[in-house]
Amino acid sequence: MLVAEGIRKRFGSIEVLSGIDLRAREHDVITLIGSSGSGKSTFLRCLNFLEVPDAGSITIGGEQVATRQNRQGALVPRSARQVCRLRAGIGMVFQNFNLWSHMTVLENVMAPPVHVLGMSRKEAAERAQALLHKVGLQDRAHHYPGQISGGQQQRCAIARALAMDPKILLFDEPTSALDPELVSEVLKVIRLLAEEGRTMVMVTHEMGFAREVSTEVLFLHQGQVEERASPAELFGNPRSERCRKFIASVL
Ligand code: ATP
Ligand code: MG
Repeated sequence: MLVAEGIRKRFGSIEVLSGIDLRAREHDVITLIGSSGSGKSTFLRCLNFLEVPDAGSITIGGEQVATRQNRQGALVPRSARQVCRLRAGIGMVFQNFNLWSHMTVLENVMAPPVHVLGMSRKEAAERAQALLHKVGLQDRAHHYPGQISGGQQQRCAIARALAMDPKILLFDEPTSALDPELVSEVLKVIRLLAEEGRTMVMVTHEMGFAREVSTEVLFLHQGQVEERASPAELFGNPRSERCRKFIASVL
């Protein structure tokens, strides 16, 4: 479903990703953990082409993203069209919700299929209503993001990502910006998606949750995968001392 091989990325003189491999099969839930600055977000952004890796390849549904070197020698996608098409199949949910503040909850969820897929407003509205129901926001459809809680905003962002019926969902610390009492309502929705068999790659500091829903956990350290294993192994009996210390520090 999603294969990333040898992903490297540097910002200036610092290599942030030093050759990361990830293979997500259909229904996999892969969790990235690691300390701040280890490259988790950058790697996730590479999977969605928000960053172009300096080296390595990304293949989605068997289709490899074609790149070429520009005049400065940097890799850029060969075809913006291919990137747009593939990106439409990848939903991303960020730490800070990134909802459109001038649109209602319903409009936020309707907008992507209307503007990207050319879906009729009527069909998009029906689908959006169903998705809002799924995330428990049916009675907030006509509120603006500023009028609802952080947990509700994040659930709206998840509904918006689902509106494109993505093949893969990426989550970057979806609960880190939330007050503690709002975390569980968002995790509940993500757990539901995992149970539905959605293919997901997520970054989270919620170790109990990661242990419960993941099929594989990757521990990143300085841009490399230091350890990868099933959640039971990685949390129960981490092999690397660094991973052991990291888990102890966040539990
Ligand atoms: P956190 O847990 O704090 O979110 P992270 O593991 O997600 O950390 P990244 O955000 O991927 O880490 O950052 C990895 C490194 O790359 C950091 O040192 C960061 O400062 C650097 N970095 C990220 N984006 C850029 C950028 N656009 N320009 C320069 N440096 C960057
Ligand atoms: Mg990050």
